[in-house]
Amino acid sequence: MTFDPPDHTESPNGQPLAPGLYLVATPIGNLEDITLRALRVLRSVDKIACEDTRQTQKLLNHFDIRTPTVSYHMHNEAGRAVELATALKSGARIAVVSDAGTPGIADPGGQIAAAAIAAGVPVFPIPGANAAISALIASGLAGTALVSSDDNPEQFTFHGFLPSKEGQRRTALEGLKTRVPQVSILRPGNDAAGIQIFYETPHRILATLADIESIFGATQHVVVARELTKLHEEFLRGAVSEVRATLAARATVRGEIVLLFVPAAAVTASDTAPASIAAEVRELMKSQSLSEKDALKQIARAHNIGKSEAYRELQRERGK
Ligand code: SAM
Repeated sequence: MTFDPPDHTESPNGQPLAPGLYLVATPIGNLEDITLRALRVLRSVDKIACEDTRQTQKLLNHFDIRTPTVSYHMHNEAGRAVELATALKSGARIAVVSDAGTPGIADPGGQIAAAAIAAGVPVFPIPGANAAISALIASGLAGTALVSSDDNPEQFTFHGFLPSKEGQRRTALEGLKTRVPQVSILRPGNDAAGIQIFYETPHRILATLADIESIFGATQHVVVARELTKLHEEFLRGAVSEVRATLAARATVRGEIVLLFVPAAAVTASDTAPASIAAEVRELMKSQSLSEKDALKQIARAHNIGKSEAYRELQRERGK
């Protein structure tokens, strides 16, 4: 790992920034979480495209940045992307910021990046705060998402927001459960459920926790990360029934929320029993050149069943 000095994108000697698109992360609560590089870029670009110009203006005022702003939000993203791409093609330096955090992550930014790339314009990520990653690293879940010893314990899936309609939300959550039996050692590290990360609103969090409880059981471990980096930052970690009761006991649930959990079904034998052990044994012996014994051992571990149980099931299938 090496650290480079400020490069051509940062006008260290008073040189103008390189032309291009700068996707600039801004704080998710704590103003100190803006980087030195982000400040320099925001000061030096020709224009800042903002999800909400009034929101960004507060940030710019705080840091005494006078760069002109233009709106760039989900309702004008497509049209504005064309306009900005035209300016970029003629050599403009444009920054994109969202209201908070990293642009393009559950926020506008993706379309303009794609348009700039299609137009042959350089795109520079200016990294910084992000709610999902901040919640993940302090969740305590990394390392608990093992299904088999081959899995990457840090594997996670970021979903953004769950659907707001109850039926669609339940279907999305149930999808996590039904995907679990496909967690197959035939494709190690591929489909493993791992840590599931969602953005959630304060007025929906109780309903979502109720859904998780009914789908994955009352003891399903969850983490609710609230108001990250802010004065009232809070982590609630525990059984979904307890976390839900804690929040339900409050007069109101406020603030911004990230919800994380490793679906319990991933580690229960009944849910992860393979459809056909014989087929998995055959496949593993072929794809990984394992002996039958070693293949069975892996299958037992992956599906959280005993070796002898796996062997008995294999014999039973063969006797059919
Ligand atoms: N682009 C942002 C990022 O990089 O994290 C996310 C924008 S998304 C529109 C807003 C959602 O992110 C919030 O509803 C909440 O779920 C989550 N979020 C943003 N800031 C947060 C914070 N300080 N604490 C917890 N969650 C936060």
